[in-house]
Amino acid sequence: MVEPKYVAPTGTSDILYPEVERRNCIVDKARRLLDLYCYQEMIVPTFEHTELFVRGIGEATDIVSKEMYTFGDQRGSSFALRPEATSGIVRAFIEHSLYTKSMPQKYFCIGPMFRKEKPQAGRYREFYQIDVELLGAAQPSVDAEVIALLMHIFQDLGLKNLTLKLNSMGCRICRAPYREELVGYLRKVEKGLCRNCRERIKKNPLRVFDCKVEGCRHLLREAPELISVLCAQCQEHFEEVKKYLGVMGLDYELDPKVVRGLDYYTRSVFEVVSPSLGAQNVIGAGGRYDYLVEDCGGPPIAGLGFAIGIDRTSLAMKRSGLKGYEDKSLDLFIITTSHHLRFETIKRLDILRHQGFSAEMDHLPRSMKAQMRLADKLRAKIVIFIGEDEIRKGVLGVRDMATSSQEEVPFEDLLDYLYQKLGRKEKWGARG
Ligand SMILES: [Zn+2]
Ligand SMILES: [Zn+2]
Repeated sequence: MVEPKYVAPTGTSDILYPEVERRNCIVDKARRLLDLYCYQEMIVPTFEHTELFVRGIGEATDIVSKEMYTFGDQRGSSFALRPEATSGIVRAFIEHSLYTKSMPQKYFCIGPMFRKEKPQAGRYREFYQIDVELLGAAQPSVDAEVIALLMHIFQDLGLKNLTLKLNSMGCRICRAPYREELVGYLRKVEKGLCRNCRERIKKNPLRVFDCKVEGCRHLLREAPELISVLCAQCQEHFEEVKKYLGVMGLDYELDPKVVRGLDYYTRSVFEVVSPSLGAQNVIGAGGRYDYLVEDCGGPPIAGLGFAIGIDRTSLAMKRSGLKGYEDKSLDLFIITTSHHLRFETIKRLDILRHQGFSAEMDHLPRSMKAQMRLADKLRAKIVIFIGEDEIRKGVLGVRDMATSSQEEVPFEDLLDYLYQKLGRKEKWGARG
């Protein structure tokens, strides 16, 4: 083995087999459920104008102030790799005047996000999300439906003992007096806060709840909670969300400390926590953002959504002993030991692949025994031998690997034999 000259950047990873299979399973199952709940896929750029994230996520958030990968172009424009997908979807929703169509609208987007964070287990600089957004409905039943979908996806993956944490972030009306109350409290304990938090008192006091410094966290335990000062409308909305969750049989835990690290959230916010992960244990989270479309230059349209962290979900599955994927097997493996019969072999292989069978041969000049081992390793169901004798007789040696029974099958009967053993396959661009 050689010492690698290049390695992947810190906080990124190469996703290899079998991890890649589990992730594909997460995405496949999510797609199936998203289809069931009438969501449409939207593919948005992996980078946007920096300004969009500053406006959308908020200038004083950790994400925007410290964690974005920004870069310029020759014209002096500033771009940022997306730290989340909601802003991009909202931007597209406005740009393409999708708000003129009937509401609500449901979109999802799957792909990598980027944050310049300190990497640790379950936290990466390039991480993958399934992002789900619903635009154009302020009704509490929608909050409950979106949360139900999030839980449904985890259920479908077999994850158990998850905790759904729920909170309300209120609206513009109830947040203003709360902000004052919080600032009053923070001023009292200012000396004990870290420098960042002291800065936050002036810029954006709610962001102190994002602080990871133990001293700050300790002081914040006594801080006033928004949930206890919600306005009448927000209170009613929250009560209804809980009722709808109740009728669907969804358990939740009220947690006033769930504030999420983004400015755009209003009313319902939620997190799903997995018991099998350590400090980074949130596998899915989201909330309502009733002002975001307007803040990004669109009409006043309510919205909400969530993101599932694919990396952490996969890790939670792995730790819970959930494989997620099925071991791959191969329909056929063709063996030949004669060099000049390789033309015949590759021709047969090509025909069979066009008939929709997964098929493989050994391109390296290996012995019959070594080729058998390879067929075994690939979990081939049928092995076909092409040898001088067989060609002369116009037959193929065919071995059923499950029963170890071997027989000679005439060339022209091979397909029927395979259909009988393996069933008919969907043809892929079959020739002729
Ligand atoms: Zn309110
Ligand atoms: Zn702090």
